[in-house]
Amino acid sequence: METRVALVTGASSGIGLATVRRLSAAGLSVFGAARSDDRLRDALSPLVAGGARIGWKATDVTKTDEIHDLVDAVLDRFGRIDVLVNNAGRSGGGEIGALPDQLWDEVLATNLTSVFYLTREVLGRKEMVGRGWGRIVNVASTAGKQGVVFASPYCASKHGVLGLTRAVALEVVRSGITVNAVCPGYVETPLAVRVRQGYADHWGRSEQEVLDEFVGKVPLGRYSTADEVASMIEYVASDAAASVTGQALNVCGGLGRY
Ligand code: NAD
Repeated sequence: METRVALVTGASSGIGLATVRRLSAAGLSVFGAARSDDRLRDALSPLVAGGARIGWKATDVTKTDEIHDLVDAVLDRFGRIDVLVNNAGRSGGGEIGALPDQLWDEVLATNLTSVFYLTREVLGRKEMVGRGWGRIVNVASTAGKQGVVFASPYCASKHGVLGLTRAVALEVVRSGITVNAVCPGYVETPLAVRVRQGYADHWGRSEQEVLDEFVGKVPLGRYSTADEVASMIEYVASDAAASVTGQALNVCGGLGRY
């Protein structure tokens, strides 16, 4: 079998970086995207030094011209895209009555519209469709299934990712391409730290108090790890998951139960 190629967004940190590690260890060539070339280099060059086939390109996933250039770069480097992991994302919220337009627009653009742009670019080129095998994995959130207080743009964006996932899954269901969402709960990453800081500021409490409250909501009693989420992404991206499509799979220590 020819070496499969994965494109992972948000590859410089957290869940995206863990996914690059997992897919690379499983034998795939991996191309990473994130905004900062320096951060991509810092994160990924140690894996290249260890023998992994990894490329990267600094890309803002909210910009269609950069998305176009990214897909060109992956095809130039590796010749194909078998697995697309739409993982790049950001937090953002506040009281709805005081939410700036710009924050709403940026959260929706980063978390939802980017998934549309990259999915359109990859499927529109017919390269994946033409080979009759593909995996699209969108990293949503348990906040895509339930409300989270003071996180309306984030919740709206992640609910939107689930709708997009389910619609596109049906569109390509007979083509050998699956489309799924993975829904993390609380995962210890730099984003999770920023989220706790935001709530601590908003509520006038310490970050430790916010952490204790969040952990207290998780039946398992702890945050999930980035690698636990990456393991689900690896499974969904595998041959074994051929009949799993249009799904939204939680990795959350029991936090979300539907
Ligand atoms: P992180 O902050 O550690 O990593 C986010 C990555 O996305 C970084 O590489 C960053 O550069 C990239 N990114 C952000 N905006 C971008 C843009 N405009 N263009 C290109 N890249 C961009 O966060 P994480 O926790 O690993 O989050 C990854 C995904 O998981 C996100 O979609 C997030 O919403 C989701 N998620 C995280 C948690 C959690 O608790 N950490 C929970 C549920 C869902």
